[in-house]
Amino acid sequence: MSEYIEELQKVLEPSKVLTEDFERFVYGADWSPRTPEEIYPPDVVILPKTTEDVQKVVQIAVKYKIPVTAGAGLTGMAGGAVPLYGGIYIDTTSMNDVIEIDVPNQTIRAQAGIPLQKLNEALEPHGLWLPNLPESKWSCTVGASIGCDNDSTFGMKYGKILNALLSAQIVDGSARIIELGHRKAHFTSTGYKLKDLLVGSEGTLGVITEATLKVEPIPEHREIDMILFPSMKASVSFLSRLLQAGICPEGTHINCKRRLKFYTHAYRQKYGKNPEVPDWAEALMALIFSGDHSVVKYHRDYAVKLAESYDGQVVKEREIVSGWWISKHTLEFEPFKQKWPDAQRVKKFGAADPGIPMGRLEEFYKEFIAIAEKHELEVLGMNAYLEHPFSIGFSLSCALFVDYRNQDEVERFRKYFKELTKKAVDYEGTMSTYMADTDLKVENFEYEHGKSTEYMVAIKKLFDPYGIMNPGKKFKRGE
Ligand SMILES: Cc1cc2nc3c(=O)[nH]c(=O)nc-3n(C[C@H](O)[C@H](O)[C@H](O)COP(=O)(O)OP(=O)(O)OC[C@H]3O[C@@H](n4cnc5c(N)ncnc54)[C@H](O)[C@@H]3O)c2cc1C
Repeated sequence: MSEYIEELQKVLEPSKVLTEDFERFVYGADWSPRTPEEIYPPDVVILPKTTEDVQKVVQIAVKYKIPVTAGAGLTGMAGGAVPLYGGIYIDTTSMNDVIEIDVPNQTIRAQAGIPLQKLNEALEPHGLWLPNLPESKWSCTVGASIGCDNDSTFGMKYGKILNALLSAQIVDGSARIIELGHRKAHFTSTGYKLKDLLVGSEGTLGVITEATLKVEPIPEHREIDMILFPSMKASVSFLSRLLQAGICPEGTHINCKRRLKFYTHAYRQKYGKNPEVPDWAEALMALIFSGDHSVVKYHRDYAVKLAESYDGQVVKEREIVSGWWISKHTLEFEPFKQKWPDAQRVKKFGAADPGIPMGRLEEFYKEFIAIAEKHELEVLGMNAYLEHPFSIGFSLSCALFVDYRNQDEVERFRKYFKELTKKAVDYEGTMSTYMADTDLKVENFEYEHGKSTEYMVAIKKLFDPYGIMNPGKKFKRGE
């Protein structure tokens, strides 16, 4: 056994240091398409309970120059938490305590490994919630949400984790414990906003151990509607007008026709009949309204009436709407008779996550189909999430079916992924909106960031002078 692992065993309790093959192997992959040959198990897994535990681990990693990868639920879709160079894997899910709920100030302080669902269960008796919720809220933790900057079902009203993050504690690559942020103040004009650097940092600057988040009152009432539009363009024009009228849905998702077929396929399986979906429908917009009953009713009625002027038609079969809501928010994906996350595993879902400006959705959709077809991959469909309060800018999930056992298909998926995410930069957008860079975007990193790449490399060195924090992600190892 390596000397550094023996040293880890001396400074931590034995139950916190896992070295058996069967214990390490499960940490070698996340939800990104990869074949069984492409699993990268770490050499040792640590289950810390406190920030001081993490500090002890990083001190040893610094001494021996061993890679340190922090991970959580391992549901990342691009390999962010996969320890490409082995070394130490810190399973942060063992740090899952709530530290403080401050009701008058509407904040929560928690350890980074708490899943978002558990965090909300702790907040619920106080009438509060953290709205930054991906589908994977049962496994996605606070630290991972900051680490990969995930999208939220409710992003149109509340934005992403950046809008909620007030302060965070990290153990950096020199094993220093630092707090970044401005306590419970929502904004500041002093100093540099270092806490914002953590959002999407993928553990490359340090291990997040605790965070203080702004939380919101639970809305009294929620209603969900789906509207069919003859084109994506029509759906975007409608949404723009709705916002201009002063109505901001809590969540808005636009699905392409293919994605619509995916949902209706599930419907057919469940109900044994065809849903009422007209041939002319090219886009399906899901709208979530929340607030007091009377306000929700007014907003919903206004939106439905307005949609008519854009040739929009409300989906009348409520089973389609509830099927979508179940798969989105509770993930009891009944049509496949499997509870999450097996449904995704069996369907072999692989996605790219580019971001594009509001006027280019339809055009980019065609690009997505063309690139997928060029690489001979089966299209599942595109979903556009709106993740910025009261504004339109798209975070896309461009999804395919990928056979994880087929090396050639997985390789073609990676080519597709790189080509499509790079194309988003040409569309005045960004390669990534909810998965961060991982190793898949390294080769096009400068293409997106140009000369600012140098500054980012310098920032990384400041936090991680020995290049041990999740090496190979964002930049090549050693850069
Ligand atoms: C069925 C399913 C549904 C999904 N739905 C959504 C969705 O609706 N929206 C969305 O955006 N994504 C979604 N995802 C993708 C994924 O779940 C999210 O990106 C989620 O945020 C990852 O959380 P995790 O805890 O599994 O993170 P992991 O995969 O374990 O880690 C993600 C990244 O965060 C870093 N990290 C984790 N913890 C820390 C820490 N303490 N300190 C520093 N860095 C850390 C890791 O190094 C890694 O780079 C879904 C995935 C699946 C499988």
